[in-house]
Amino acid sequence: MSFENQIAERNTYMASLLNPSVDEEISIYSKTPLPLFSRTESVILSIIRKNQAVSKVDLIKLTDYSRSKITGCINSLVENGYIQADGLGENTGGRRSVLFSLNGNKGLIFGADIGATSIDLMIADLRGNPIARYAEPALIQHGPKKILNRIWDLFDQLMKEKNLLDQPVLAFGIGVPGPVDFKRGLVVSPPIMPGWDQYPIVSFINEHLPETVVIVDNDVNIMALGESVQGIGVGKQNIIFTKIGTGIGAGIICEGKIYHGSAGCAGDIGHICVDKEGPVCPCGNRGCLEMLAGGGAIAQRASRVVEDGKSEILQKYFDKRNGNILTEDVGYAAREGDKESIEIIRDTGKTIGDVLAGLVNFYNPGMIVIGGGVSKLGNLLLSSIRQSILKRSLPLATKDLPIVFSSLREDAGVIGAVNLAMDIYLSMERVE
Ligand SMILES: [Zn+2]
Repeated sequence: MSFENQIAERNTYMASLLNPSVDEEISIYSKTPLPLFSRTESVILSIIRKNQAVSKVDLIKLTDYSRSKITGCINSLVENGYIQADGLGENTGGRRSVLFSLNGNKGLIFGADIGATSIDLMIADLRGNPIARYAEPALIQHGPKKILNRIWDLFDQLMKEKNLLDQPVLAFGIGVPGPVDFKRGLVVSPPIMPGWDQYPIVSFINEHLPETVVIVDNDVNIMALGESVQGIGVGKQNIIFTKIGTGIGAGIICEGKIYHGSAGCAGDIGHICVDKEGPVCPCGNRGCLEMLAGGGAIAQRASRVVEDGKSEILQKYFDKRNGNILTEDVGYAAREGDKESIEIIRDTGKTIGDVLAGLVNFYNPGMIVIGGGVSKLGNLLLSSIRQSILKRSLPLATKDLPIVFSSLREDAGVIGAVNLAMDIYLSMERVE
């Protein structure tokens, strides 16, 4: 199903919730307001959003709508404060035309990226310009009430600090490190998020912000979107973003939009089998990618090297951390020339690259972006991933395929969350 269809289905679904006959179980969106725009208005908004400033003539050319229809919609969008006249276009002979852009003062967009061990927050205006940014460590295992209350307190504090309390919050995008039923805004059977299964995140937020549109998505999806709209992926329509951390996942950008798949879990590559005889994964299968190439696997392998007395350099880190080795220590040791660490990183890159090669053959992306904590292992990891992909993919698919690290790093998720919230908010259509 295309992204537009998913949004349309979600809009219909949300509208249906205002019908009193809807059963209790799905009342999580009950406080969300009805969709806002006519079809033409939402098309115009999406063009203005993509191009930042466009004239009436541009809109007529780009849409095939009549001049009077475009004029009517522009007037109504200006009147309601969504767009504003914003300077004049280039002189092309006749009169210079008025350009329209989104109105940054209309209200606020919140973005939150909840990771396994951190929360990242951003407040932006309706143009997507950041107004406030904050991050702190937090453990997802503490459960939804504690984490969401903390997030709410932090936003409240940021609003006070920046004198934003009088501004409405139009939309709120939230990324979580687990599978998400995108249409319903629910986390479903997450492996590392105790207490979050089916937790009504949307209604929690709507208790504080009853008029705000709340969107929940998987964290890797929002990171992929972030890179695609403001990071290294700008200008590429089809991207695979791979997050390598404790777990491994991929976000797929298809024709500029997040591809969710039919149930919402597209890109869950961490559980692709790479070794049928490999260790048992919490998912119940053997030899999943993240069991062999995730952060945990790297640290475990390094600990075994120390136990076997094979590396003095790793031993040094092991002692320094009182009998523990972190994934990043393997990167430090490799930079000091430790052969065992170099081999661990190369193997990890090869295992990930082999899986990505399959995805390249299948999907033919225009770019592969690598992010997540394990990517801090550096260029050695990237070059082994690259080698495996180039070796195992079709030459046509890799002829012009940049394989690069994330450029936004810790900001990718919040930027993606803000942009997803804006995408959804500005495409919400009235039921006519
Ligand atoms: Zn698994």
